[in-house]
Amino acid sequence: MATETRIRLVKCTKRMEGHDGRAPSSYLRFVCDVNIHFSTLRLGGGGHHEPHKIYFPVPTEGTLTVDDVDDPTAVFLDYEETRRRAWAVFTGIRGLSSLDLSHGNWSTKRTPDHVAAHWIHRLAKRVRNDGGSGHYQLALHMDVDVEYVFNEPVELVRGCGVWAEAEEEGGGGETCGICLDELAAEAGSEKSRERPPVRLQGCGHAFHAQCVTTWLFMGTTCPLCRGDLTGLVLAPWEIDRRPRATRPAPACAAASAPSDQDDAVAPTT
Ligand SMILES: [Zn+2]
Ligand SMILES: [Zn+2]
Repeated sequence: MATETRIRLVKCTKRMEGHDGRAPSSYLRFVCDVNIHFSTLRLGGGGHHEPHKIYFPVPTEGTLTVDDVDDPTAVFLDYEETRRRAWAVFTGIRGLSSLDLSHGNWSTKRTPDHVAAHWIHRLAKRVRNDGGSGHYQLALHMDVDVEYVFNEPVELVRGCGVWAEAEEEGGGGETCGICLDELAAEAGSEKSRERPPVRLQGCGHAFHAQCVTTWLFMGTTCPLCRGDLTGLVLAPWEIDRRPRATRPAPACAAASAPSDQDDAVAPTT
């Protein structure tokens, strides 16, 4: 995927809203401020994120209620069980349903289920050790940052595709314009799977996908003919934003609006 989701738990505040032996149940409330924004890894941007100025906050919340009249503490003493329940509540929060909250998308080590389980588990254990019991009313206020990152070099190279069947026969002996190693002549061969060859649209120069992707993080042109490759692919949130061309179409033009910007200036993030 050329667009990744990166999620960070920026801040988490814990609050005990009550501890009551007579309450009918325990609860844990997640109160979330989710800030969504967008950025692009540009051709020639050196791997720096260029922010796109759309930010919108999504305030939302969800509650985990534990009805265990006999011994609510027992549920919270099981760390993994608490974590599992907390995760189910967090990921089920209505305002978050459109986000891919998979653990792999979190760039912070601690995720809301960790924080919740860790805190509740410790609290329940302490109360239990002091000979207490009762029901807990707890709240976790979280600031969550969600960033969608569009990877322009990856998207551009992906759009080139590997060798088409028709090209195979004439492809033997061709070398990568960057590393000068021979390119796989046969589509679907092991060599082709390991280092897929791609041909830039327009100029038709051929490279290993990895070689040209790495190159495009540092440069904005075809390494061989210097044909301009900027503006050929756009992030979904950029399509309506860019003005139409005021300069000639790029040499390797695919169907899309050319950029009015020169090389990206990397933000200091
Ligand atoms: Zn190569
Ligand atoms: Zn070229």
